[in-house]
Order: sequence, then structure tokens, then C-alpha cells
Amino acid sequence: MSPAPSRTPYVAGNWKMNMDLASGLDLVQAIREHTFGKTNVDVGIFPPAVYLSAMQRACEGSSVIVGAQNLSEQKSGAFTGEISASMLRDLGVTSTLVGHSERRHVFGESDALCGAKTRAALAAGLDVVLCIGETQDEREGKQTEPVCSRQLATGLEGVSTADMTRVTIAYEPVWAIGTGLTATPEMAGETHAYVRGVLAGLHSEATAQATRILYGGSVKPDNAADLLAVPDIDGALVGGASLQAELFLPIIDGAR
Ligand code: PEP
Repeated sequence: MSPAPSRTPYVAGNWKMNMDLASGLDLVQAIREHTFGKTNVDVGIFPPAVYLSAMQRACEGSSVIVGAQNLSEQKSGAFTGEISASMLRDLGVTSTLVGHSERRHVFGESDALCGAKTRAALAAGLDVVLCIGETQDEREGKQTEPVCSRQLATGLEGVSTADMTRVTIAYEPVWAIGTGLTATPEMAGETHAYVRGVLAGLHSEATAQATRILYGGSVKPDNAADLLAVPDIDGALVGGASLQAELFLPIIDGAR
């Protein structure tokens, strides 16, 4: 078997509905300075939509990736309050989350809708971070693997092998998001290996080996290095700890 292609670690901050313009710009400045000239880790921020333009401008000339937290699956039309993939592209945004657990469980987004959003984003030229993960009940009911497999199959339906180079998976057990509970490195590693196997089945072993799979769920400076040392964990999607430079920057360092 040929050696696995290298997957540059990726640390992404999901700001959710937090921050204001001034604190966002301060944080971006700190991230820019901290990551200047470092090529062994990719860093992304996913600010609220209203701040995307300002953060995109503030990141110009740096390697910091600016992405959206959500997008519409529609191209245009009478969809009040929605934002299309091409509008995000207009701002210079290059990536988007799809299927974050809050979109699925607070706003009721189905697997099929997440699949449509993935296709819309990729068609417009955006990269996608597709979030998957089981609830506490599903884990207790030993449904982690079927849930992840279903969310991957539907979330990636119609995605070509060529487009998989623009897809990152974020495994985020719902019970660990914003709760302070974290999957142990062993638990997370087991599911990441399973997810990679599902990707191999959907596409090929080469695609599975080339796809980054991030872990998310209460990642903090004190647990990041252990999680990120697991071979199948290629980075982190960070919520709460991505809002403060003193927490986010050490997590970036933990991924190098
Ligand atoms: C998230 O929002 O994707 C997340 C993982 O949040 P937290 O790190 O706060 O658990």
C-alpha cells in the first residue's frame, strides 16, 4: 500500500453568534500575527455572516481561511434572510460549515438538506466542512456508527471524487459540543477511523486517506495536544475556545 498523503492539520474556530466587530478584528489580528510564516497548520475562522466581509478584509494577505457558518441550498430568489453560496464567494469567503449540530438539532436541518447545501457550496467554488456526529442518546444506543455513516452518505451524495479534495469532515459528538465534555482521544480516534472507512466505501481508500477529519467538542488548550496526536484526527473545529486568543492560539500550537 502506498504511504498516506500528508494531511496538513487544520484548526478552525466557529464563533457561532458571538463576538462584535471590534473584538473580532482584535482576534483576527492576533491570529494573523501568531500564524505568520507558519505553513505546518491551516487556520480558519467562521464568524457570524454580518462580519464575514470585515473579517475577510482583515485576513487579506494572510493564510487565514475565512468561512461561513451556514448557507442556503438555493441559488437565488424569494428566500428572505438566506445567503447563497455565490454571495459568500462575492465577499471573498472560501469555505463554509455545513450541518453543524446546532443547524441540525436547533434549526431542524435534515441530512438531505445538508447534502443539498454541500452540493450548492461546492458548485459555487466554496470548500466545505461537513459536520457530523451523534447525540448522547444515539451514543448510548450504540448508534454512533450508523448515524455517522448516514450523515456522511447523505451529506456527500452527488459529490464527485474530484470535489472531495475541497471537503473536510468534522466529527463532533453532539453531547460534547459546548458542554465541557470531551470524547477521549481513544473514543474520538475510534470514530475517526470508522469515518475514514466510510469515506473509503463512498469513494476510494486514496480519497479517504487524503480527506481531513477534524474533531470538535469542547476542545481546549489542555486537551488539544492529546486529541490532535491521534493519527486519524487531522485538526479541530473549536467553538467556545476559539473566541479568545489566549485559548485559541495554544490549540493551534497543539496541532503542529
Ligand atoms: C462547535 O461549535 O463546533 C464546537 C465544537 O463547540 P465547543 O468547542 O464550544 O464545544
